[in-house]
Amino acid sequence: MTPLLEVQGLTKHYAGPHGRTLRALQDVSFTLAEGEVLGVVGESGCGKSTLGRAVLRLTEPTSGSIRFAGEELTGLSRHAMTKRRRDMQMVFQDPFGSLNPRHRVSTIVGEPLVVHGVAGVKARVAELLDMVGLPPDSGSRFPHEFSGGQRQRIAIARALALSPKLLVADEPVSALDVSIQSQIINLIAELRRKLSLSMIFISHDLSVIRHVSDRIAVMYLGRIVETGDAADIFARPAHPYTQALLSAVPTAPGQPKRERIVLEGDLPDPSAPPPGCAFHGRCRHAMPRCAVDIPALVPRRVGDDVALAACHLYEPVS
Ligand code: SF4
Ligand code: MG
Repeated sequence: MTPLLEVQGLTKHYAGPHGRTLRALQDVSFTLAEGEVLGVVGESGCGKSTLGRAVLRLTEPTSGSIRFAGEELTGLSRHAMTKRRRDMQMVFQDPFGSLNPRHRVSTIVGEPLVVHGVAGVKARVAELLDMVGLPPDSGSRFPHEFSGGQRQRIAIARALALSPKLLVADEPVSALDVSIQSQIINLIAELRRKLSLSMIFISHDLSVIRHVSDRIAVMYLGRIVETGDAADIFARPAHPYTQALLSAVPTAPGQPKRERIVLEGDLPDPSAPPPGCAFHGRCRHAMPRCAVDIPALVPRRVGDDVALAACHLYEPVS
């Protein structure tokens, strides 16, 4: 079956200060099946948000291919792309910044329907508010009358208005209190099942990602360094960076504790990426080869298993 989304070699470079080139995305490839959720995880500044925006062409990629439902998006005109975005919507981190404070919630949620000339706006808005668990009278109120969690429900209702096939959620719970986070994650998980949504779920927090993702892609300095089945990655992380991220996630009661791996130093400057493996300055397994040779993201032999990881510790499967 053709995947819903096929991203090949996606690259985004920005012109940075002093004539430098900011390499936000470097040769990123992945696929997303219909109804599947891909969790994208990595530290802030690793390119996750750029990836989410580039897939919808809210940011123009520098090169690479994006095929959505079999159609190449990168060559589409602005007008054709706007039409295509009916099927691809985004939910942002800051539920306040993304909602117009001067508009009533019914206007905010109904706007995409009006823009695309869909009939029956009022009934659909009522249905959407109910779907995200907001009281029926919410439509006549303004965003500031709602809590952070409720505002994110409004943003989700708006994103779902046109029944998109793909939802890109960029840190949808990071601005919320921890007590509210799980409510929104549960809502997203429930909607995803009910609506058979495909989703790219972006978060810096693996413990958030694990609850919603079928597969995970770990990003470091603009590249995917490991990707695979969520359960496999949680059970047997192969890449040292994935291992470090995972070591910070609390284990369930009764589970053996993981050794905490503290990452020294910061993410390197994306306008001056280190040669070789970009992680080598922070990696406790780094070898001389790592400083010169960029490891490819290919299937590699990890003990008795095979993992898709960009790391010289493991031999590629020939
Ligand atoms: Fe560490 Fe080398 Fe693997 Fe990079 S390639 S993660 S530096 S062992
Ligand atoms: Mg971001």
